[in-house]
Order: sequence, then C-alpha cells, then structure tokens
Amino acid sequence: MNTAYIALGSNIAPRLDFLTQAIELLQQQETINITKQSSIYETEPVGLVEQDPFLNMVISLETELKPEELLDTCQQIEQLLGRKRDIRWGPRTIDLDILLYNQTYIESDRLLIPHPRLHERAFVLIPLAEVSPSLYIRGLDQTISELLTQLPLQDKEGVIACQPIEGVNESKPFEN
Ligand code: ATP
Ligand code: MG
Ligand code: MG
Repeated sequence: MNTAYIALGSNIAPRLDFLTQAIELLQQQETINITKQSSIYETEPVGLVEQDPFLNMVISLETELKPEELLDTCQQIEQLLGRKRDIRWGPRTIDLDILLYNQTYIESDRLLIPHPRLHERAFVLIPLAEVSPSLYIRGLDQTISELLTQLPLQDKEGVIACQPIEGVNESKPFEN
C-alpha cells in the first residue's frame, strides 16, 4: 500500500462544501482510504492575482493507485467540482495537489513529486505539519516541522485555523 498527502484549496463559494465534496469523492474510490485530515485553515491569497481568501487543508491517504492514476482521479474530481483553468494561480472551486507519494521522487511532464512549492507555502506546511510533523522529505532533507520553522512569521500569520484543533483554543466561524 502507498501513502500519499494531498493539499486541498478553494476560494470560490461555497468553499467548505467544495472541500467536503472533494474528500467524499476521494473516499468513495475503492482504491483510496483517507487516513487523516488536518483542520481547515483560512488563508490570505499570496501571489500576483487579486482574489478572495482560501480555505486550505491537507489529508493523508493510502492507495493502490500509482501516482499518475492518483493525479487522474484528482483532476477528475476537480472537473466534477467545476474547476476552470483560465488564470494561473487564479480563483478556483477546488485545487487538489499531490504533495508527497511515499518517498518517491517524480519529475515528468504532468507530475512533480514532492510538490515543488510545498516548502515555501505556509498554507501547505501548517496543515501538513498537523497531519504528519515528523515526516521526512527526501530531497529537501528535512522534516515538515523543520521546514515550517524556516518560513517567515508573516507568512504563517496569514494562515488561521477555522475549526478547533484538539487541545488548542483557536476557532473562527466560516462565512461561506
Ligand atoms: P501549483 O502547482 O503552484 O499549486 P496549481 O495547483 O494552481 O498551481 P493547477 O492548475 O492545479 O496548478 O495544475 C497545473 C498542472 O500541474 C496540472 O495539469 C498537473 O499536470 C501539474 N502537476 C505537476 N505536479 C503536480 C502535483 N504534484 N499535483 C498536482 N498537479 C501537478
Ligand atoms: Mg495548487
Ligand atoms: Mg493544482
């Protein structure tokens, strides 16, 4: 069995529904078993495009699918949930990015694993650290927690937990 980590993101209403539906559609696959889910975080958009805040989270799963097959499944779910690709890094109903697949390193036309921008994104590392803090990333030669400590504080402050994390007194209601 293979272990993979997927980052989910949405910044088109209803954001929470898109995250929930994507998780349900993944779980419905006979070849996929979701093992852990992070809290949901509200995240200030970064980058060039002016757009609404995101909800982001990370899940871990076990799967019989090969990496390319897992990407196919993720892209089918993105299509089903109305994902359009008009502006690069623009607003989206749902984005499903494969962060890691075992300790596999892949560099093909359609698939890069580990995800090439995971180490620079607070909205990925914060939920990933919640799911698997001591996970070691080959190539980056560090654990998730170690990568997270290296991010600027300013980046981390833009990522706010929206649901209570067990043992941590932090919560924030959703608006959409
Ligand atoms: P980013 O990758 O910076 O988060 P994005 O998620 O907005 O950007 P998409 O439009 O969702 O980018 O995907 C563009 C292409 O990225 C896809 O067609 C897919 O083939 C490719 N891709 C490469 N590596 C991965 C990966 N690890 N997970 C998902 N897609 C990937
Ligand atoms: Mg993405
Ligand atoms: Mg993507």
